[in-house]
Parts: sequence; structure tokens; C-alpha cells
Amino acid sequence: MLEVQNIEKSFGPTKVLQDISFSLERGKALAIIGSSGSGKTTLLRCLNFLETPNAGRILVNGETLFDAADRAAKSDAEIRRRRLHFGMVFQSFNLFPQYTALENVMLASLMLAKERPDYKQNRHAIHEEIENHAIELLAQMSLEGRMSHYPHQLSGGQQQRVAIARALALQPDILCFDEPTSALDPELTGEVLRVIRSLADQHTTMIIVTHEMAFARDVADHVLFMDAGVIVEEGTPSELFENTQNERTRAFLSRFS
Ligand code: ATP
Repeated sequence: MLEVQNIEKSFGPTKVLQDISFSLERGKALAIIGSSGSGKTTLLRCLNFLETPNAGRILVNGETLFDAADRAAKSDAEIRRRRLHFGMVFQSFNLFPQYTALENVMLASLMLAKERPDYKQNRHAIHEEIENHAIELLAQMSLEGRMSHYPHQLSGGQQQRVAIARALALQPDILCFDEPTSALDPELTGEVLRVIRSLADQHTTMIIVTHEMAFARDVADHVLFMDAGVIVEEGTPSELFENTQNERTRAFLSRFS
């Protein structure tokens, strides 16, 4: 369903991603591991059109969402439409502080609904439908009792679970996590990892950039190891963690043992 072909990205003279290609099937979880500065975040940002790659193509369900060779300018509406294929969960949650948990989850769906031609006639029904969906998602994140809380009234783990519900609200094809637990105290990490694990059990298509090696090994169907902007090694968790082929991968993994 997702095909990433020969992506390159430079910032000025610095090549941050070089010839990145991989694919991900529907319902599978891909973990991306690698040392700091290896380009993992930049890769996720390229997928979500927060960065524009200098070369390469990105396809979802056979549709070309990005082709560096196609220089035609895209409208903001078109970029927003393409971005909807990807849900993003960031390290630092990025919730809107002035909105409650429920409002945070509803906001993007409400904004999109306003573009529907039937919005004016059906606004009450549409609002109710979006609210019910948001309540359902927050309940799935075990946040039934926290819907009216503002971000500052929530723990980091709860905020991150709101952020996951918010990303799911738009029903993306692929849910992307950028080190979702690295801003959390260890005791709050488990609750977020449990939620991600349950999403994997429900066959949510996911890309997870993580430093949690045990988690990657346990939850991912496929693992990529990146170093200095290239994919050095990839395989199933058992291939990558137990039958490591590359010296750089081995050196990286030895830091976690
Ligand atoms: P970490 O695990 O620390 O988050 P990472 O693997 O996600 O690291 P990136 O954040 O993608 O790595 O960064 C890759 C390289 O690109 C780094 O050398 C970084 O300094 C550089 N870089 C990232 N964004 C920019 C930018 N906007 N301008 C210039 N250089 C950048």
C-alpha cells in the first residue's frame, strides 16, 4: 500500500536522506531504528509533506502522492488532501493547549467537514457524528474520564494518548509515530506502548520511529536500520535483531544490550 522509491533529501549541502526505498503492506507495522541524526525524523516529515524531498516518489494504494520529477505547483488544498493519508504522532504531543482532549480530537474532522457541500443543512448531525467518533477513540485510549481536561491537566502519557486518538480521527491509511515515548518518564512509557501494541494487534498500518528496541522487536513486522541517511539493513525483527548481517547494525544494537 505504501511505496517509497529512491527518496533523497538535502538541507543545503548536507545530504540527510540518500536513496531511501521501502514498501509497507496494509495492516503491517514497520519500525525504523537508528542513531540520533540518522535521518529518521526527516524521513517521516517527507512522507507527511512537511519536507519536500529532492528526489524520489511516494505512492499510497497505487496513487502517486509525491513525485520529485513533477514540478507542477500543488495547491494547499491538494497538499492537505495528500497529507490525510498519513496520521502523525510527534515526540512532544503537539496538542492545542486551549482545547480540551475531546476538542483536540474533533478539531481537524470539524474543519474538514466544513468543506462538505451538505455541511450547512446537516451541521448538527455531522457535529454529533464527529463527537461520537472522538469519544469512541478516547475511550479506546482508556481516557473516558479525561475528555473535558485541557492538555496541562493531563500527564504526558495521557497527552500522548490524546494525540494518538487525534491522529486516528481522520482515519489515515498509515499512522506514523516519531519516537512517541521519548519525552515520557519511564513509568508513563508503558501505557503509550500498550496502546500502540493494541493498534498493531488490530492491524493498523503503522510506521514507528523508536529507540525502544524491545518494543520494535516485539511489535513490528519489519524493521529498518538507518545510519547517516541510508537504510543499512532491513528485515523481520528476528533477522535484524538475532541474525544481524551488517557491522554498523551490530554496533548500534550493542549499545542497547
Ligand atoms: P533523532 O533520533 O535525534 O531524532 P533523526 O534520526 O530523527 O535523529 P533527523 O532529525 O532526521 O535525524 O536529522 C538528520 C540530519 O538532518 C541531522 O544531521 C540534522 O541536523 C539535519 N537536519 C534536520 N532538519 C534540518 C533542517 N531543517 N535544516 C538543516 N538540517 C537539518
